[in-house]
Amino acid sequence: MVSKDDVRSLPWSFTMYRTIDCNSLRKEHISQTVTLAGWVNSRRDHGGVIFIDLRDREGLTQVVFRPEKYPQLAEAASGLRSEDVIQITGTVEARLAGTENTKLSTGAIEVTALHLEVLNKADVPPFPLDSTVANEDLRMTYRYLDLRRSDMARNLKLRHRVVKSTRDYLDERGFLEIETPILSNPTPEGARDFLVPSRLNPGSFYALPQAPQQYKQLLQVGGLEKYFQIARCFRDEDLRADRQPEFTQIDIEASFVTDKDIQDLIEGLLKRIFKETRQVDIPTPFQRMTFNEAMNRFGSDKPDTRFGVELTDVTEVFTESSFKVFRSVLDNKGVIKAINAKGAATLLSKEQLKKWEEWVKTELGAKGLAYIRFKDGEWESPIIKFFSEGERAALAARMQFEDGDVLFFGADQWTPACEILGRVRLRVGDLLGLRSDEKLNFLWVVDFPLLAFSPEDNSWVAVHHPFTRPHAEDAARLGTREGLDSLRAVAYDVVLNGVELGGGSIRIHEKELQSQLFDVLGIGEEEQKVKFGHILKAFSFGAPPHGGIALGLDRLVMLICGAASIREVIAFPKNNRGVDLMTQSPTEVELKQLRELAIRSTVVQPPQA
Ligand code: ASP
Repeated sequence: MVSKDDVRSLPWSFTMYRTIDCNSLRKEHISQTVTLAGWVNSRRDHGGVIFIDLRDREGLTQVVFRPEKYPQLAEAASGLRSEDVIQITGTVEARLAGTENTKLSTGAIEVTALHLEVLNKADVPPFPLDSTVANEDLRMTYRYLDLRRSDMARNLKLRHRVVKSTRDYLDERGFLEIETPILSNPTPEGARDFLVPSRLNPGSFYALPQAPQQYKQLLQVGGLEKYFQIARCFRDEDLRADRQPEFTQIDIEASFVTDKDIQDLIEGLLKRIFKETRQVDIPTPFQRMTFNEAMNRFGSDKPDTRFGVELTDVTEVFTESSFKVFRSVLDNKGVIKAINAKGAATLLSKEQLKKWEEWVKTELGAKGLAYIRFKDGEWESPIIKFFSEGERAALAARMQFEDGDVLFFGADQWTPACEILGRVRLRVGDLLGLRSDEKLNFLWVVDFPLLAFSPEDNSWVAVHHPFTRPHAEDAARLGTREGLDSLRAVAYDVVLNGVELGGGSIRIHEKELQSQLFDVLGIGEEEQKVKFGHILKAFSFGAPPHGGIALGLDRLVMLICGAASIREVIAFPKNNRGVDLMTQSPTEVELKQLRELAIRSTVVQPPQA
């Protein structure tokens, strides 16, 4: 997505080891004497003339050792191996006509070596550093070598640029970068905590922050008004391509703000970041869509709006249906939704449709996937025999169903029906090539539900987190506990091409309202005192209205780099079992050691002199 030239190299350099980097020499430097230092990227021997591609972080320069002029030097160079670290001094010369390399920024010149210093020898690397390596475990075991590859250097430079743009942008707007504790108490963000034993307080544990949520709110009570942090967060959950046990957020909170203020601020920030990293102007303001609309039309709370194939409610078509599956859904107040994959009939054979059905069952937990394929004038489907003529005609008209199309149905309660069909819609988008990376579709999803009922816990849970403010018109219903599932939150997510970049909310700043919400969540008075006494007390000393947001930095950089996983934009990531293969962390600790630690921690240390 981004070419190498998008990454600016530093105008400044240390000069004791080298006079210039390996990406800077051009025709105008011809006849100058330069000193370069770096790694041997490759060595070629053309009848005794030794060519070395010398590499540093910035790029490559070709160095030539000529035996006719400097036989001893050429002899020494012939012993060099890939990844040896060397320093050379030489003269910049034009490459012979016809041997220029237009793909390389330094491809017009070469440096004829006058002096060679081997700074360190290298063993044979376990994988080639100048081509794609499929074995990710191997890359992670030798991550320090993997980082020498130009793709990784480019990704980390872009990451730096994103952070730098963020710091500049927020600083210019009066935000203060403030660090909050890593050793802290649990804060509810919906994941498990990582716990750290406290040696000085045996039996007590710190929790690593899932997010700096409470601290950033307490900074507002503390009158700091505009806070941000490039914050490391820790969540003990199952890992996927875009999850890590520790990850980084651009965390923001401000006082005396509305949801619109925060959204405007973030649009400006993303505009700045995309301009400074990808040189694109993203149009603002972003589209805004309510959670209900997003689910109804796209079957997702992070809709990919780069393409249509929207969900249509066809419940009315089937009110009289005798098809058992539809009948029982409708009798249980469920909905029937459909999407039309236009022109997909030739791309989806019966066998492929079976595979899709398997996928929906095994990976999405659905009972099945009803579909109709319209091919050569025929409707093909195992369920078509249950449809009346009238239903067929009404369905065709409502879905604009034509020869060559495939219809998919989602029949269930509203949420699962939308979500499952939403996932099928994304797969249809991929199949029809409608999800091009060239497009950048940003949008805000707003008016999320405040609460959701969790059947496993048999209680209400906060959809965002319990500090999120209910809509003013809905707040009274917290007290009366009517229609809790339809309470709207002043919460917002920013979405890019179907990926959630971040989310936030306007917060509760009144002690009573906060305590009322905890009550609804089943957190009684005693538990409130123990777990949240500090924040409830703080709210009683004049907390200002406040709100904020957090953007996932790793995911944002991944999208900017066009990388397939956040592991490609983190210097030392963990694998999907939470293991750092290079250092072999986490380390097994024997129970005996743990016991010793516990005993030692109870021994009172004599005062130090
Ligand atoms: N603390 C929230 C999170 O980590 C973000 C926020 O509400 O500002 O998702």
